[in-house]
Amino acid sequence: MTIRSILPFIFLVSTFAKVSAQYPGWQQAIDYTMDITLDTTLHQYHGQMTAKLTNNSPDALNRAFFHLFFNAFQPESMMDVRSRTISDPDSRVGSRIVELPESEWGWIKVESLKVNGKTVEFTHDGTILEVQLNAPIRAGKRATFEMTWSAQVPRQIRRSGWMNKEGIEYSMTQWYPKVCEYNHDGWHTEPYIGREYHGIWGDYDVTIHAPKGYTIGGTGVLQQSMESAISSGTWNFIAEDVIDFAWAADPDYLHSTTKAGEVTLNFYHQASEEYNENWAELPEYAAKAMAFLNELVGPYPYPQYSIIQGGDGGMEYPMATLITGERSLRSLVGVTVHEMAHSWFQAVLATNESLYEFMDEGMTSYVTTLCMRHLFAEAITSGFPHRSSYSSYINQALSGNEEPLITHADHYQTNRAYGVAAYSKGEVLLAQLSAIIGSNARDQGLQEYFAKWSFKHPGPLELKQCMEAASGLDLDWYFQYFINTTHTIDYAIKSVYENESSATINLERIGAMPMPQNITITFANGVIEQYHAPLTMMRGNKALADNETLLPDWPWTHPTYSFTIVTSSPIVSIELDALRQTADVNRDNNTVSFEVEWQRIYQRN
Ligand SMILES: [Zn+2]
Repeated sequence: MTIRSILPFIFLVSTFAKVSAQYPGWQQAIDYTMDITLDTTLHQYHGQMTAKLTNNSPDALNRAFFHLFFNAFQPESMMDVRSRTISDPDSRVGSRIVELPESEWGWIKVESLKVNGKTVEFTHDGTILEVQLNAPIRAGKRATFEMTWSAQVPRQIRRSGWMNKEGIEYSMTQWYPKVCEYNHDGWHTEPYIGREYHGIWGDYDVTIHAPKGYTIGGTGVLQQSMESAISSGTWNFIAEDVIDFAWAADPDYLHSTTKAGEVTLNFYHQASEEYNENWAELPEYAAKAMAFLNELVGPYPYPQYSIIQGGDGGMEYPMATLITGERSLRSLVGVTVHEMAHSWFQAVLATNESLYEFMDEGMTSYVTTLCMRHLFAEAITSGFPHRSSYSSYINQALSGNEEPLITHADHYQTNRAYGVAAYSKGEVLLAQLSAIIGSNARDQGLQEYFAKWSFKHPGPLELKQCMEAASGLDLDWYFQYFINTTHTIDYAIKSVYENESSATINLERIGAMPMPQNITITFANGVIEQYHAPLTMMRGNKALADNETLLPDWPWTHPTYSFTIVTSSPIVSIELDALRQTADVNRDNNTVSFEVEWQRIYQRN
């Protein structure tokens, strides 16, 4: 039984009846067998593959598409032009592609292609290969693609290529002709502009012939001993139920392993006097991180995970990551934790990252923050763990350049707008639920989401449903506002009228986005009281602590809200959202403090 078939089955019995109407109940399936011969003189390779695509959709497929990512690394490619014309280019790309000599371009040229034994016509269109099928692949049928191709590995520019800035010879990511995803909302044939991938789960059996003496790490499990692979130059990896396959090769890699429960963690890096110590400490942190993430989100389902020096920063792949390695310990652990955390969101849930990038980067950032806090507890002084994402998002919102979270990952007008939305606002999306449904319901919702939607490509609605199920609250409004609009949150204390025995507090919603309110009142006798005003449209309220008092609902249509409390001591201060769980863009109007005297009136100007 494969991983994919075991994991969901555990949860299927209890959750099947609740599966949403949008979820179709099928996924395409693909199995690749590849044989690759690497020429390290020309930086080229030759490949042949058999890819068996099972069309589990109810639709007949008349065409098929493959990604040819390496074709992005040529002058005038979409990636090149985009990176030279966007107002804030990624410094790793900039104008580097247009300046490459032809011998350093990347390309993939398909030489032959047969489908079910018969030659078919195909067209190279930049980073996509279009295949005209002789006969449709009917619903429920399997088609066998037999392909030969040659490729030139680009000089390392973005993620993949030969000779990265730290001297790693081959970072082989987005490197082979990969069948595009067809799912319930159609084909996904995104040209390669710069970011995010989508793929079909399947089994990969990849044999790589490299010069003797090279060490290769990557996705999958090596089928022979590393010593025999190094001396023979033949490397066979098998990976089950993955959406992609990545590898890296270098003659100078040092390799070590450790265990995280049943999972083997592999480490590959080059010897470096300055950084060896950090790499020596990394395995212990990585094992602790995997244990923490297993607990927080759900069990990591693959047999191994490889942390490999390579690439141009950090990039996630199934069962592997390529990271740059010349880093401080904190930075090395930070990038490892982030990329490892992607395993849950990019590899196993595998939301379409082009459409819903915040559900990959944002959710990954959210758990990374918590994991780093766990690993470096002694280094954390105080405060809300997600505060840097909150301030990054709030600054962008106030700048006027924010674009909605729902924007396609490649189509933001600036790289900054993408980065803040996908990473920071995406992290806030989850963190902020603590103010709406409470931390316990949010944590439970996250685990249920992973259990229910693993290996199914969920989208925002599936996440919303799990948070609703965990809390019993209606969250349509929250996901609509926060994902589809750039409306901001700003609540204020409008006025306070106090006499000897009571106080009336008037609040105001200034921002367009509604949000339930937590109100902290401190009295002169030292007592601190908490009040909670839910939104009417939530149809309930989060679980309250013993010292919290539930106030009547606040209808979102009403810009102001008033409540009166009985007092036995004068009020010293009132604060909205004292825990800073909401992304309130203006905190100056959240607090009122009084000198202690009776008969006061406060009115905000
Ligand atoms: Zn990431």
